[in-house]
Amino acid sequence: MTVQIAVGICCLMASVAGVIAIARMWPHPSGQHRAPHPLLRPAEALDQFEAHCPAEDRPTLHIRLRLGGELCTECRNPDQAGGER
Ligand SMILES: [Zn+2]
Repeated sequence: MTVQIAVGICCLMASVAGVIAIARMWPHPSGQHRAPHPLLRPAEALDQFEAHCPAEDRPTLHIRLRLGGELCTECRNPDQAGGER
């Protein structure tokens, strides 16, 4: 009798722990997918265009700044090459 109760409690504990583990692994619908590289404020960016990034040696998305100059949106490096090459 006591063995059966102990086994029952053990099964109950295991199932509760399993439910808690599943609930913790469940993806949360909000707050998990924010942009890793937030862009500048819209007032500072005039234009977006794809250009060659000298730091990453591949084409990336750049923005043209209102105050002049260009900025790579992925590594945030100012791009002096201006997309030439
Ligand atoms: Zn870059």
